[in-house]
Amino acid sequence: MNKFLELFQTQLNNGLLQSNMPDVMKDILNKPINEIIFNFPVKLTDTSIKMFKGYRIQHNNILGPYKGGLRYHEDVHLDEVKALASLMSIKCALQDLPFGGAKGGIKFNPRLYGQKDLELITREYTRSINKFIGLNIDIPAPDVGTNSHTMDWIMDEYNIINNSNHIKSIITGKSPECGGSLGRKQATGRGIGILIEHIMDKFFTESIYSLKLEGFGNVGSHVLDYINIINKKDTSLNFRIDYICDHTGCYKICYGENNTNIDNIEVIDYLLTYQYVNNSLSCIEQSEFSLPIQKISRDEYIQGKTNIFIPAALELSIQEKEANDLQCDIIFEGSNGPISDKAEEILKEKKIPIIPDIMCNSGGVVVSYFEWLQNRSNEVWLLNTVYHKLDKQMINCFEKIYNMDHDLLNLRNHCYKYSIEKIYNVYKLRKTNLF
Ligand code: NAD
Repeated sequence: MNKFLELFQTQLNNGLLQSNMPDVMKDILNKPINEIIFNFPVKLTDTSIKMFKGYRIQHNNILGPYKGGLRYHEDVHLDEVKALASLMSIKCALQDLPFGGAKGGIKFNPRLYGQKDLELITREYTRSINKFIGLNIDIPAPDVGTNSHTMDWIMDEYNIINNSNHIKSIITGKSPECGGSLGRKQATGRGIGILIEHIMDKFFTESIYSLKLEGFGNVGSHVLDYINIINKKDTSLNFRIDYICDHTGCYKICYGENNTNIDNIEVIDYLLTYQYVNNSLSCIEQSEFSLPIQKISRDEYIQGKTNIFIPAALELSIQEKEANDLQCDIIFEGSNGPISDKAEEILKEKKIPIIPDIMCNSGGVVVSYFEWLQNRSNEVWLLNTVYHKLDKQMINCFEKIYNMDHDLLNLRNHCYKYSIEKIYNVYKLRKTNLF
């Protein structure tokens, strides 16, 4: 079995052990309701015809319509999508959203295709899943390799196929011009930033905290964006980015070197601008601006000491070796499943708390829910309204779970326990014949 799916099943089983549950719940949560796989041809702009493999896994919908992102990546495969769909069921239950869990994807490298081809591939994918999705059935959203423009194409194609012109709530994460919620793009990163602010303020006492960020895409860049919002606030909390990496390499910021007096706020602003313009960190150490940044090896990157580590790239990037080498006070999981179960045991022994993915990166699905509500009632909420509701929801979720036994080292198990019991209670009432 694939390692990521194995990781989900271990985490689920640990959660089940904490709850008094009939065995059938384990089977229900271990097996998705629908596993949809399809191959579809696309005529590309150069007139060649290429076959693509698409997936949509609908894990569980006892709490509401299936909900989950769409990933474009060359490594997408059935077990990975199953694991991601299962995580979504747990995440939505944890945040008390009226949604179940799903995930979809296409196995290809989107970086190798132009915008026009991406549109053609996306429209064909939509035609293939059309009969399986719907505003009360399954509502996709963005994930790795997709963005608001991808969602706009899906909404448009869905409406063409279904002879409509106005069904917006079929998909979330659209651009605001097409009915997307303000703040959706920022939501996952901001949600993580809100938890960093809340937890560092509540449990730690430093005046400035150093950060290590892994992955600088949608999630990573919006975490840093929010970190600078905190830095610019008139409070005693301050953050400094010391290490950063993306798929192009690992980098260390050497404050005070090269005769530069650049401060923590300027460094973050510069990194965000560079990423926005170049779409990656590639060659940043050679850029004209005198940012004191040095390219380092992955080992040096992992071993560098910081207060906070935020994995925000792909799953399972932290294995036993990395867990042994990591030196930090706390980890905020921006990506899904970044830490293997063996690595987690090591981190637990080192007494490093982990704010788990299902809580930490749930800001995206929370604002997706807000988008769905706005589309259904033809409302447009102000950005401040979205942020206010998101911030409150993230902090309430953390407090609800932390108050279960006031143990920062056991949050993942308590998140699972909360979600599993919530799903079980609804099964018990709706499917009396099963229990
Ligand atoms: P993205 O494609 O925008 O960014 C991914 C980043 O990871 C890029 O900067 C890429 O360079 C980097 N990366 C890839 N391989 C790497 C490697 N080997 N080493 C270091 N960096 C590497 O994706 P995203 O939307 O930011 O998602 C990141 C993670 O967060 C994924 O696990 C995703 O499932 C999860 N997530 C995303 C959202 C969302 O709203 N986008 C919500 C919840 C969870």
